[in-house]
Formats: sequence, structure tokens, C-alpha cells
Amino acid sequence: MRLQRIIESELNRLFVFELEDGFAVEAVHYRGDTLCISTQVGCAVKCGFCASGRHGLFRNLSFEEMIFQYYEVSTLHKVRRIAIAGIGEPLANWKNVRRAFMFFKDRGFKVSFYTTGFPLQNLKELLSLPHNGVSLSIHFLKEDLRRELMPHAGRLSDLLSTLREILPTLSRKRRKKISLAYLLLRDVNDSRSDLELLGKLAKELGLGVTLLYYNDVAGFKPVSPQEYEDAFLFLKSMGVRVTLSNRFRRDPIGGCGTLTVGRFADIDREEAKV
Ligand code: SF4
Repeated sequence: MRLQRIIESELNRLFVFELEDGFAVEAVHYRGDTLCISTQVGCAVKCGFCASGRHGLFRNLSFEEMIFQYYEVSTLHKVRRIAIAGIGEPLANWKNVRRAFMFFKDRGFKVSFYTTGFPLQNLKELLSLPHNGVSLSIHFLKEDLRRELMPHAGRLSDLLSTLREILPTLSRKRRKKISLAYLLLRDVNDSRSDLELLGKLAKELGLGVTLLYYNDVAGFKPVSPQEYEDAFLFLKSMGVRVTLSNRFRRDPIGGCGTLTVGRFADIDREEAKV
């Protein structure tokens, strides 16, 4: 495995790693001290709005391949926080991801996750660990729509039953570190009634909402900045704790949903630095 190139925007640095078998995965350094790492080569969940899962799953990354992303970037930039939120569903490669999590925690890093929540047994274990944030990718509250746009994510009803079982066993402080991630797609899940359902669910579970802004990688439409703000204010008016996508997550280089897997030879980007 080797660092093949770095692509920089004003906000983010995208690191492209070539693996021994010729695949390429990506990691992103942002906010001055945070590294978002990939856990799989591709993703079996195949969310329709995400570039990372477009071609499905090729294989899991090993523990060493995950740690390598950190080692290489840390020789160039400060890293204090790890976001396990790059390419792949971390719970689907749990043994290796858990080991990487312990590695980072043992060194004093803050470690957060993005996950669709399956396998549920692994989610239960994750929520019992000393993580620094878990964002649960909910996105759609109608089962059929969710199945269409997150075809292999597992049933929302199963995820919610598990959350209803686990959350009451966690302290208030631990629950505050868990949020429902909701990607706003224009004319898909952005109506008042959709947001009302989301607000009610967040309040019932006692969780905050991370309202994500869509980076156009798959032909959906983002909401306008005003609509984004309105959705935020509407949820706030329901008494929900809401976090918005920061500018790093909205950047076309390395923002949410933009990381891609490649056969290394297929990647051809002009901005190559390394
Ligand atoms: S959003 Fe996450 S779970 Fe969905 S395809 Fe992309 S990497 Fe996989």
C-alpha cells in the first residue's frame, strides 16, 4: 500500500492510497486536525446518493490498511481526531474496525463514526464503546423509499427497535453523542411532513439530528441554502437539537458521499500533488 497522490481544495486534502491488489481508496484531512478514513474497498449498502458504494463492495480493508492511512497523513499534518466515515460501512468490517478504534483510542484520539447501523449486533457493541460520536444514517423514514435509495441497509423498523432497546440503557451523556443523520434531498425527503416525522422520532429517542447537505454525485437535487436553513429552524422549533453540515462536509473535494474507489489506473486527476 502506498500514498499515491494528494488533491487539495481550499478546505480539504484528499489522500488517494493505492492498495497492493491495485484498488485505490481515499481518506480526507480536514478542519486542521481531523482525518476521515475508509474501512472498505467499496460498500455493499449501495446508497443511491453516494459515490463510494456505486460499484458495490470489493473487499474489506485490513487493520493495517486502515492504520496506514493515519500513519501517512500524520507525517504531513496534525491528526487529533479520527472520523470512521470514509468509504465503507464500518459495522460490516467490524473485527478490523474495532481493532483500529482501540488503536486510536489507546493513543488518545477522539474517534467518531458514521454508520447505517447493520449488523445490529455490531451496532450494540459500538454503542457500548467509548466513542466520541456515532451518526446513524437514517435519511428516509418511509421503509419503501429507504429500501429504494439504501437498498442493502437493513430495515428501518429493525434499527429503530434496537435503538429503543439500547438507548434507555445509556446515560444521558452517552446518548448526546449519538445522532440521527438525515441527508436532505429535494423533492425526495424534504417536505414538512418528512421533517415532522424526523423531529418526532428524534424527540422520542432523545437524540439530536445531523442535517446533511447533498453533494451532487448521483443526479439528485440539493435543497437551496434557504430551504436548508428553513429545515434547520423547523426542527429547532420542534425542540430538536440540530447540527448542520459544516463547510468541509460540503466541499466537492472530500465532502460527504464524494469518496470513490478506483482501480488505480482508472484514476486520472489533474490536481495530483504526489
Ligand atoms: S453512504 Fe455510507 S453506507 Fe451508503 S454507500 Fe456510501 S459509504 Fe456505503
